[in-house]
Amino acid sequence: MKSVKKKFSSVGRSELIKIAISSCLLGNRVRYNGESKLNRILIETMNDRVKLIPICPEVECGMDVPREPADLVMDKSGLHLITRSGNELTEKLIKWSENRVKRLKAEGVKGIILKSRSPSCGLYDAQIYDSLNKKWVKGMGLFTAIVIEHIPEIAVEDEAHLNSIEKITGFIERIVEEG
Ligand code: SF4
Repeated sequence: MKSVKKKFSSVGRSELIKIAISSCLLGNRVRYNGESKLNRILIETMNDRVKLIPICPEVECGMDVPREPADLVMDKSGLHLITRSGNELTEKLIKWSENRVKRLKAEGVKGIILKSRSPSCGLYDAQIYDSLNKKWVKGMGLFTAIVIEHIPEIAVEDEAHLNSIEKITGFIERIVEEG
């Protein structure tokens, strides 16, 4: 661990590792309701130690702020993102995500921190309506699933699991260690 800390503290700004992060966690007001989900502990712990790259899949693929909330629905054909009034957003989000993921790879992004419970950014606990079994289950958001499919080597975590300075530092050190 000592050698990792040394390596970690000796990197210059131009060599900072790049970590993508759900934009709302940085305080950007991009959520469906026009609010943010500012996460001060993440920002203060990561500041100056990594280069954070904000991403909001929903806004960057062309959705408005504020916007109608959308839910994930699983059926025989797969996962769909559908607004409460029935507007299907799946193709729009998937197309944008596939392009963004290619650029993340090209930019050498080593890790990603995601907003929990989001139908786009959730990692463990996006709410999914399983229409075959008619019940709600927990799973991965649409954007996150595409990130993991296309960049399986990327370090991934959600903000709910990075809820202390020690956990955030451990996440960064793991990325530095793995190079
Ligand atoms: S959770 Fe993801 S899609 Fe939702 S507002 Fe935050 S960054 Fe955008």
